[in-house]
Amino acid sequence: MKFFISVDMEGISGIVDGTMVSRKQGDYERGRKLMAFDTNACIEGILDSYPKAEITVSDAHGGMNNIDPTDLDKRAVLVRGSPKPQSQMAGIDSSYDACMFVGYHAKKGTLEGVMSHTYSGGNIESLHVNGMEVGETGLNARIAAHHGVPLAFLAGDVATTKEAKEVNPGIVTVAVKDAIGRMSAKCLHPEVAREEIRKGAANAARLKLKPMAIKAPVELLIRFTDARRADAAAFIPTTERVDGKTIRLVAPDMIVAYHGFIAAVLCGTAVS
Ligand SMILES: [Zn+2]
Repeated sequence: MKFFISVDMEGISGIVDGTMVSRKQGDYERGRKLMAFDTNACIEGILDSYPKAEITVSDAHGGMNNIDPTDLDKRAVLVRGSPKPQSQMAGIDSSYDACMFVGYHAKKGTLEGVMSHTYSGGNIESLHVNGMEVGETGLNARIAAHHGVPLAFLAGDVATTKEAKEVNPGIVTVAVKDAIGRMSAKCLHPEVAREEIRKGAANAARLKLKPMAIKAPVELLIRFTDARRADAAAFIPTTERVDGKTIRLVAPDMIVAYHGFIAAVLCGTAVS
């Protein structure tokens, strides 16, 4: 059995604001340890169910070099660094049986979602895939689905577990914190959170889920936070301008769509 774990940082247990998720902040070293330990709990859970499972971990936050490789359970392989094809999902292919998301956060604008945003908080107001608004959970679950891999497990705050159930009702979720506001939450003790993640991942690993269906071609509506960013992204060939802040991109499959989205984000960043 092969499992793929994508790990973001805003939904890690105990983290509620920017002080632990940015390299420039004083509490970052603590944040990256918490990130590694939630990830290790997920690895242990999978191995509880399948002791010989092959596990790949993809660091999916910021520069994607947050987990200290020496902190990670040595039974997993770590994908790190940026930029790279498939971004937060780099490393996945059709050989995996299931994927799991740890430390994930809700899409931009979610009520009571800790550090809610959609891929690039300063750039992206919203993202629609084939008419449905998605956050990173919905977007990355579709990348897994492109490879025929189902999303089986998610750990994050309460809002993100609800978002994940909308993506795939059959998955196992673990809420490690409950937001009070965008930068505040009631948090489980990290050790308690890890026990829950381990149990949840063990159960999720045994699920036999089907990957979600994706219609081709894939249409993206990418709405920026201001028109200048959309001006820049509209230079990407084949895009159409929908309105001041929004571009439309149609791609033959989900991977090309994802890469087009990332290109649009980089264009927006270039003029910020
Ligand atoms: Zn992140």
